[in-house]
Amino acid sequence: MVESHTQWIEGLVASNIHWTPNLFSLRIEADVAPFEAGQYTSLALEIGGVRVAQPYSILSVPDTTPLEFFFYTQLDGQLSAELGRLHPGDRVWVKQIPEGRFTLDQVPPGRDLWLLATGTGVSPFLSLLRTPEPWQRFEHIVLVYAVRQWSDVAYGDVVAQLQAQYGERFTFVPFVSREKVENTVHGHIPASISNGTLERVAARGMSTQNSRFMLCGNPGMVQDALSALQQRGFVRSEEGRTGHITLEAYW
Ligand SMILES: Cc1cc2nc3c(=O)[nH]c(=O)nc-3n(C[C@H](O)[C@H](O)[C@H](O)COP(=O)(O)OP(=O)(O)OC[C@H]3O[C@@H](n4cnc5c(N)ncnc54)[C@H](O)[C@@H]3O)c2cc1C
Repeated sequence: MVESHTQWIEGLVASNIHWTPNLFSLRIEADVAPFEAGQYTSLALEIGGVRVAQPYSILSVPDTTPLEFFFYTQLDGQLSAELGRLHPGDRVWVKQIPEGRFTLDQVPPGRDLWLLATGTGVSPFLSLLRTPEPWQRFEHIVLVYAVRQWSDVAYGDVVAQLQAQYGERFTFVPFVSREKVENTVHGHIPASISNGTLERVAARGMSTQNSRFMLCGNPGMVQDALSALQQRGFVRSEEGRTGHITLEAYW
């Protein structure tokens, strides 16, 4: 599709929070069209006279301002590094109409909603969990947030607020792969599905009748978790077919 420049609007950076040398969040004032939790929009900067754009999940809650995004940097690529250098008052291009089908309306009814994320893949879930809909539709929600080091767990305040608000209806399961940390799972999401660790730690069984899954982030995790779930009889939602698993891979 040929991209029209009229789809881009100027956004104004309201803040840039650096959580670690590799992770930061931007708040951006931009008059985008209404969006659903789980959707993304594209951000762009002019780099060497060329507009460089990438898609980013929206972490903020629909109908609130400013927009918020959570980034991993220190990559080979250009855009994430440049976005990390922005300051309040700087301008950034924002696609006016958010898009994407990684939303709750792609998830069929069930009892338990399992949200499985690596790194910045937690963004759509932090938006979704702060809307009423998942809590109206599901009895119990498990958020799995997998990182390399404990210091990579950002948005602890949002998680704490959800725990306070929803109590036993909400289970938070942090995974840390590169160091051993008390009260976290040391390892990776796909293996924990296959060997039963995730169900044990979450104190909740998985079944095709009760469990619905959303997977987001690193494509290796997404693919391997999908395979682990498929081996247990779960089916992926695809165009024209509703299944138990909805997914979004970031690269
Ligand atoms: C629908 C969608 C939503 C996305 N949402 C986010 C988001 O909320 N936050 C975010 O940081 N990125 C997100 N991404 C990835 C983002 O679009 C860019 O790919 C990323 O910022 C790297 O862009 P770049 O131009 O700096 O480097 P590129 O040259 O595009 O990427 C360099 C390499 O970095 C790796 N990489 C890309 N994204 C990540 C990541 N998030 N974490 C770790 N490694 C990565 C890949 O190996 C990639 O080949 C999303 C991608 C998609 C498709």
